Amino acid sequence: MALIVQKYGGTSVGNPERIREVARRVSETRAKGNQVVVVVSAMAGETNRLLALAKEVSKTPSDRESDVLVASGEQVSSALLALALQDAGVPATSFLGHQVRIATDSAFGRARIRSIDRHRLEEALAGGSVAVVAGFQGVDANDNITTLGRGGSDTTGVALAAALKADVCEIFTDVDGVYTADPRIVPHARKLDRISYDEMLELASLGAKVLQIRSVEFAKRYKVPVAVRSSFNDALGTIVVEEDQRMEDVLVSGVAHDRDQAKITLRRVEDRPGLAARVFGPIAEAGIVVDMIIQNAADDGSTDLTFTVPRVDYEKAVAIVKSREGEIGFKALTTDTDVAKVSIVGLGMKSHAGVAARMFDILSREGINIQMISTSEIKISVAVQAKYAELAVRSLHDAFIGGPTS
Ligand code: ASP
Ligand code: MG
Repeated sequence: MALIVQKYGGTSVGNPERIREVARRVSETRAKGNQVVVVVSAMAGETNRLLALAKEVSKTPSDRESDVLVASGEQVSSALLALALQDAGVPATSFLGHQVRIATDSAFGRARIRSIDRHRLEEALAGGSVAVVAGFQGVDANDNITTLGRGGSDTTGVALAAALKADVCEIFTDVDGVYTADPRIVPHARKLDRISYDEMLELASLGAKVLQIRSVEFAKRYKVPVAVRSSFNDALGTIVVEEDQRMEDVLVSGVAHDRDQAKITLRRVEDRPGLAARVFGPIAEAGIVVDMIIQNAADDGSTDLTFTVPRVDYEKAVAIVKSREGEIGFKALTTDTDVAKVSIVGLGMKSHAGVAARMFDILSREGINIQMISTSEIKISVAVQAKYAELAVRSLHDAFIGGPTS
């Protein structure tokens, strides 16, 4: 008998018919002799609807009350799925974050899970019930309701799978797996059967929005196999697992792009120790993740410093830098939101030279100018003008992974 955690996203529980369909799938999984814990997201669009409501009554909704508000979305879907299961003759019990006791820190809106109490879920399973857990929510040390950040139900699913030592965490969504590129841009992109945690981490952070990045970090740390599958068919999907030798033979597994970037340049910053720390320290403190950084040393003792941040944090980052203008000391600040990041990811890059050169060559043949470059052991990213993003993705995909006919 296996223990399976199944997580269903917003579109999978988007209306009563879909919820009944989920109940059918859960009941089938159980009929095969498995124990099942289900994690649900809010019904499609619900979290956005609630956040918009908050904005209608308050110009600056507080984080604590926003969490109380949005957590209600998952409360509704967990109860509805438990009801649908019961109606199908399957014993089921719903659990909210605080009832399981998914303990988190107090960072409202982006809380991190600290511990999970398995006992109530194990009790429910031992009693023959399916446990239906509201995703996305937890409780802090003072019994405040917290939420785990957008897409956080993925993390609830994987964290529960880790805590319960489940055999697999299946993430049911509206795509049938992880693709070599976004199929809307590259129609002949292929679905991957397997991908390593590290590659998935890079792809998740690059804006391939299949899984919340924290869920992949959790899966990697606790070695939870994660299957990304469609709730609209029975295909097996993509399994995210530890790397093996075969995976290293593949040079490039995926091409990702991210249009939600912004570029900030500080001109003529003094070239001396401590400067970068003075710029990036306060930005990090504000919880803003800086991605690419370029510093160019000039001969006259000053330098230009360019970096990218997610578009949503752009105004905040600019405000922080401006408020420290005296301390940092720069001649001018220029910004550019017309940028996109395009990246190739693959374990094979660890052991093969010349991948970057080939990537730059492919882009130059298309006449695409590279504005910035950053690399990791298994990833090369470039910033390009936004209008070239799709062309870049297509040409890189076709050269490294395969064109329409190959
Ligand atoms: N309902 C939350 C959101 O939309 C959490 C989730 O769906 O994973 O972000
Ligand atoms: Mg999601």
